Amino acid sequence: MQLGLEGARVIVTAGAGGIGRAVLDAFLNEGAKVATCDIDEKALADLPPGVSAYKVDVADADALARFVDTAIENLGGLDCLVNNAGIAGPTSPIEEIGLADWDACLRIGLTSQYITAGRAVAALRRSSNASIVNISSLAGRMGFAYRTPYAAAKWGVIGLTKSLAIELGGDNIRVNAILPGLVAGDRQKAVLQAKAERQNRSFAEVEADAFSYTSIKDYVAPSLIADHVLFLAGRTGRLTSGETLSVCGNTRMLV
Ligand code: NAD
Repeated sequence: MQLGLEGARVIVTAGAGGIGRAVLDAFLNEGAKVATCDIDEKALADLPPGVSAYKVDVADADALARFVDTAIENLGGLDCLVNNAGIAGPTSPIEEIGLADWDACLRIGLTSQYITAGRAVAALRRSSNASIVNISSLAGRMGFAYRTPYAAAKWGVIGLTKSLAIELGGDNIRVNAILPGLVAGDRQKAVLQAKAERQNRSFAEVEADAFSYTSIKDYVAPSLIADHVLFLAGRTGRLTSGETLSVCGNTRMLV
């Protein structure tokens, strides 16, 4: 498959770990130039040489906007913006969720995408292969009990994606979202563990529940999400915009 991403100029938010790191590595393998921001200083220091890496909390709107400006300057333009940052948020009944936790989940998972997109759009207009890939979640297309701020943020990402795809289509900027299912890694384990404790059940039972409405019962490797990002960002995604691509083994309900 000819992706045509050699020399592409790419920003990935929260690219020092998890899915973001897999996306960053995949772009580097294609010969792209990548800039990222993250809050994990140690993980940032471990990134391969050549990556423009900045310690920035995406919840800090001013710092995030400055990061986008600096990254575009360093990369010499921008072809692809990958809005990956997002936190799991609280796993609690609605009446126990504090405003600060609600706000943090929305700021990191949704508002950050509005900031980066607005800041990047001028540079994207100058690209001959421009796209934005927003990371949503299965929680962005179904209800997710006890994870209301997360689901609200991820539904918001879908609304932002679909609206921008229309708004920026005339500028040849494609905007798509990827909806990962249960991704392999510590984050998903922590979410299932919190649920097991709340329900006084074993981790294995809660995990089996989580897969009970999924046809292909396996965790999603971060590298598989990265493959889908590359497909959308590459020449392969030339006519794909406004789409929400689930990578989840056909999950029909979140429990
Ligand atoms: P993760 O928890 O593994 O974290 C990835 C990176 O984000 C880390 O390097 C971390 O330091 C960084 N980060 C956290 N808060 C930050 C902040 N405020 N500013 C900057 N960087 C920050 O996350 P992940 O599992 O790789 O998830 C990445 C994206 O995929 C998120 O938007 C998440 O909601 C989404 N997603 C994940 C899953 C899953 O099962 N893990 C499922 C569906 C969707």
